[in-house]
Amino acid sequence: MPVSDGGQVSGQSSVAPVGSGQASGTGEDRATDRGDSDPDYSGAASATEWGDRPVPIPDGVSARYWEAAAGGELLLQACKSCGTLQFYPRLACRECGGAPEWVSACRRGTVYTFTVIHQNGSRAFRERVPYVVAMVELDEGPRMMGNITDCEPGDVRIGMRVEAYFIPAGEGIGIPMWRPLAAGM
Ligand SMILES: [Zn+2]
Repeated sequence: MPVSDGGQVSGQSSVAPVGSGQASGTGEDRATDRGDSDPDYSGAASATEWGDRPVPIPDGVSARYWEAAAGGELLLQACKSCGTLQFYPRLACRECGGAPEWVSACRRGTVYTFTVIHQNGSRAFRERVPYVVAMVELDEGPRMMGNITDCEPGDVRIGMRVEAYFIPAGEGIGIPMWRPLAAGM
């Protein structure tokens, strides 16, 4: 099993976690109320559960990932040369530079670490607090960030078993979310 992939934490990927700016210390938390000055903001509820949170912009590498997620499938990449599994999606294997291919993940994992966001000045997130941003270690090994829902933030624990589900965020884009798995799964 390859070592876990923490590369996505620094947010350089097009599949960087959404709403995690405060946790990562990027200063986004100081951008309080910047949305208020946007005269174009209608305040209308969105048609989807994703609401007015920022929507990922698929690129040539990640489009397949987002599209699969829209269909309820969680994709990883496996190197055709050395077998290394990786997430986030890249053009080349992070170990050997080989060509990766898409493989379907089992959509189950374990909370590796998490933070509870209590304050987010961004309009799209402020009414969702408190919410949990977690790094989930997939059963396949790679780690990815996401929100944990369907339980009280105070009940989230490191080591908790979770499963992915997906909510639509636009045409051809699904966002993986995580919720607790039943005991023993
Ligand atoms: Zn490789």
